[in-house]
Amino acid sequence: MHAHLLNASHDVSRRSWLASANPGAGDFPLQNLPFGVFREAGSPDSFRGGVAIGDQVLNLRALAGEGLLQGDAAAALQACTGDTLNGLLALGAPAWSALRHGLFDLLLDNAAEPVQQAVRRCLVPLSQIEHRLPTQPGDYTDFYTSIDHALNVGRLIFPERPLTPNFQWLPIAYHGRVSSMGVSGQRFHRPMGQSLPVGASAPVYGPCARLDYELELAIYIGPGNALGQPIGLGQAESHIFGIGLLNDWSARDHQFWEMAPLGPFLGKNFATTVSPWIVTLEALAPYRLPWSRPAEHPQPLPYLEAASNREHGAIDIQLQVWLSTAAQRQTGRSATCLSKTSFRHQYWSIGQMVTQHTVGGCNLQPGDVLGSGTVSGPAPGEAGAIIELTEGGRKPLDLGHGEKRTFLEDGDMISLTGWCEKPGYARIGFGQCRGEVLPAVGS
Ligand code: CA
Repeated sequence: MHAHLLNASHDVSRRSWLASANPGAGDFPLQNLPFGVFREAGSPDSFRGGVAIGDQVLNLRALAGEGLLQGDAAAALQACTGDTLNGLLALGAPAWSALRHGLFDLLLDNAAEPVQQAVRRCLVPLSQIEHRLPTQPGDYTDFYTSIDHALNVGRLIFPERPLTPNFQWLPIAYHGRVSSMGVSGQRFHRPMGQSLPVGASAPVYGPCARLDYELELAIYIGPGNALGQPIGLGQAESHIFGIGLLNDWSARDHQFWEMAPLGPFLGKNFATTVSPWIVTLEALAPYRLPWSRPAEHPQPLPYLEAASNREHGAIDIQLQVWLSTAAQRQTGRSATCLSKTSFRHQYWSIGQMVTQHTVGGCNLQPGDVLGSGTVSGPAPGEAGAIIELTEGGRKPLDLGHGEKRTFLEDGDMISLTGWCEKPGYARIGFGQCRGEVLPAVGS
């Protein structure tokens, strides 16, 4: 099963009987079919799997009850009827693909009228639902794999040597927390902690003064590996179900004081927000690109090299960061776009992250989340964190109407958006990953 290969489910000329599911109408055309977990907003019902289609969500528990799919597709559909998608992710790429193609056929405009009627009974408007995390991750690991991000932040801390010696040789990461991970709409209190003020000889305790976001992707692990059994790069993508958006909220003042020598701790563990929908690797096939490394840079060691990675290891995912301040919302003003970039610039690929994570024998499990690391591109305005945009707080951003930002203030909402587009193919979207900063407690 090769998720990078094109097939009928990528054909932009295929149409659905559901008008809002046709390409050009929004994030979720027929060619996308991203998976999440939902229920009707405020309902006492239990959560279950769903697929976003047009301006609707297809209730996969209800669909299983209609008995329209057979074989592998029916088995995969059954794995979506509970309140987490871990079971689906454990099944592997052949099952995921069977379900994708089964759903695609049910939604096609040539589906039989009784089929259309049965599927219609399973649709719920997107405007009427609420989400929970699409998987219950056993573990969450956050990488650090954008060289532009590493250079931008490194210059602020170690101007003479912005890249650590290991950066170009391995995808660096730290192990994060699942307990504070929330789905889009997450609201969290500004964290308290220690920081070392500039020029001071002793730290102070107080609310974070340099609160930041990080624009990242969430990479969802499918079938895991047994403890002690590494995943080679040639097989790494068969262990990835799909990709969502992720915001790795960061308390920079706390982080920079505590980080040496063991890495981020309280600076990162107070909140992480993910988008509700997982776009499958199969849906992303048209937007794959060769992965390369500038000739003058160190080339990967052999275990981080594979022909498949060179041929299609990169993905062109367009990403944006939006800030909505409390004052903007109160006065009816629109949000401010802070940056725009693409995942295509990332220094390490998603497959290399999986291989590096497991090369020592560490086992990954279905539903685990890998954060891609902040996605920053090479040009100004492509930075994925406010600390880069403001050069460590030295150059405030002017939001207009007298508002400026060096770091995030209480009431600020950050929304990440993402999509893929390419001539001859549908534009497919990731939806939104939104979170809001509440005032500190305990200060
Ligand atoms: Ca991060």
